[in-house]
Amino acid sequence: DSEIVLAGRSNVGKSTLMREITGHTFDTGQRPGVTRAPNHYDWAPESFVLTDLPGFGFMEGVPEDVQEEIRTDIVRYVEEYADQILVGVIVLDGKAAIDIIDRHTGPDSIPHTVELYHFFRDVGIPPVLAVNKMDKVDDRDERLNEIADRFGLLPPWQQYDETIAPISAKRGSVQPLYDAIRTHLHDAERDDLF
Ligand code: GDP
Repeated sequence: DSEIVLAGRSNVGKSTLMREITGHTFDTGQRPGVTRAPNHYDWAPESFVLTDLPGFGFMEGVPEDVQEEIRTDIVRYVEEYADQILVGVIVLDGKAAIDIIDRHTGPDSIPHTVELYHFFRDVGIPPVLAVNKMDKVDDRDERLNEIADRFGLLPPWQQYDETIAPISAKRGSVQPLYDAIRTHLHDAERDDLF
């Protein structure tokens, strides 16, 4: 089956988004680090498998060595299944992403979300940034341009609608994510979707 993987640091709204797109209920506000293995869900009627990758990035209350182990497991999983993974969705909190990314960027350090984005690309998986909580963002274009910039995409962000999908999972406005995913599917898979 075709697989779409989903990653994001805790509290970005990943569970809310998964509930919105699959109709399943997920444990929102789950203690970070509890889920350490990839979890698979049916994304019906699209006949995709949606794989929830465990918390990526800083996990509060989880020791650094355990966090590192989790990241290593994710990397191994993605490498092993790269051929069947159609899209790698990275969920960001549109309101907080820039502060978090900038705080974790230094001469020798790159934020985990940015690293994951490049990793997806390196293994041939198109990354999609699901920029969530856009209902809380006032300076929309400015914010999305900054986010594009942090991932090495030259503004304006509108050039990358196959990569940058501004959404509000809580409000159920996720069409830009569906549209972005659709651009990465093969012709046969694209028919009659979403
Ligand atoms: P997770 O830790 O990434 O799974 O995040 P959750 O899905 O548990 O959501 C974390 C918090 O963000 C909850 O309080 C959600 O209600 C809230 N949230 C999720 N999506 C949105 C959104 O689109 N807009 C706003 N304003 N809040 C959201």
